[in-house]
Amino acid sequence: MNHDTGAILVLSGPSGAGKSSLIKKIEKEIGAYYFSISTTTRPIREGEVEGVHYYFVDREQFEADIEEENFLEYAKVHGNYYGTSIKPVKKALKEGKLVIFDIDVQGHDAVQKRLADITTSVFVTTPTLCELKQRLNARGTDAQEIIDGRIDVAKREVQRISEYDYLVINDDLDEAAAVLVNIAKAARMKIPSIKINEFVLNWEDIC
Ligand code: 5GP
Repeated sequence: MNHDTGAILVLSGPSGAGKSSLIKKIEKEIGAYYFSISTTTRPIREGEVEGVHYYFVDREQFEADIEEENFLEYAKVHGNYYGTSIKPVKKALKEGKLVIFDIDVQGHDAVQKRLADITTSVFVTTPTLCELKQRLNARGTDAQEIIDGRIDVAKREVQRISEYDYLVINDDLDEAAAVLVNIAKAARMKIPSIKINEFVLNWEDIC
């Protein structure tokens, strides 16, 4: 069977759960991949780079992109828009890459509705809410009311873990990364239904 069609790996989970660190940690072990850089209206944080962490745009620009149907999915998270542009995702899938999304539960829902048969999803979280609070406070990049907002969203998001294929508890980064490498490798092997039909037809016809 030829697994050359590309696949999607969705990572969701609270801000501060360590999704970015995990992606960095596994990138050399998972083969050709494309990390989807989202567009957002939220203010840039210290240490972030335009075009690396996000494309930072204003509300008008984002709403124009919605109008032009440039997004595969978009959602309002913590009062700001976040969205995934379709074009680079399509290109990467055509090139047979594993496309990695760091998106929230609403985004995951939308991706599942459109591309379920090539999507594998993972919810990443801290072992406890208490640990999440400590990590967000230690990060020191956000004001207390923003941190409180993120904690409220996190409490709601964990209620939806059952919608995901896998749960990765990021207690020890190395251990969580090892689990994620296995999931990413399996995600690549997921067979889209169109390929299955093709295989069955050929399997019956060719002697
Ligand atoms: P942060 O502001 O901490 O970078 O991200 C906040 C939340 O927005 C995270 O849960 C992250 O997964 C989510 N997010 C980032 N980009 C996107 C996107 O393109 N679409 C959706 N639906 N969520 C996103």
